[in-house]
Amino acid sequence: MGCVICGEPVAPDDRSFDHFVPQALAGWGAPNNGAGLVFLAHQKCNCRRNHAPASRPMIRRGSAAIASAGPRIIAEAIDNLNTAERAHFEILETIRALRAAIIERAIEADRASAVMSTVGHEREGSAAR
Ligand SMILES: [Zn+2]
Repeated sequence: MGCVICGEPVAPDDRSFDHFVPQALAGWGAPNNGAGLVFLAHQKCNCRRNHAPASRPMIRRGSAAIASAGPRIIAEAIDNLNTAERAHFEILETIRALRAAIIERAIEADRASAVMSTVGHEREGSAAR
């Protein structure tokens, strides 16, 4: 089984374990850490990936790893993915709430500047008279 990120074989002294769902993502709002599903990866590949979500090739290689895994690993994987999915829903909800707040603020700011410019025009008008 090669590196889950680049697919190349991994020497024993270059081994690291990549979290399928990065801990930084799965940890947020998750009751327990949903990042428990780990695969073999090069230390360099793992570092480079940082907090990025799993890519398509990673998902393909991960699926291949699961295909050869035992029932205990499968049960753990399902558990971890369910937790990670819940965490992602919570992240999406947070993004939507923040977006709504920003839009609301932008509308307010727009209204305030419209009022300001009306006041400005009135002043200009009365000054001209
Ligand atoms: Zn690699």
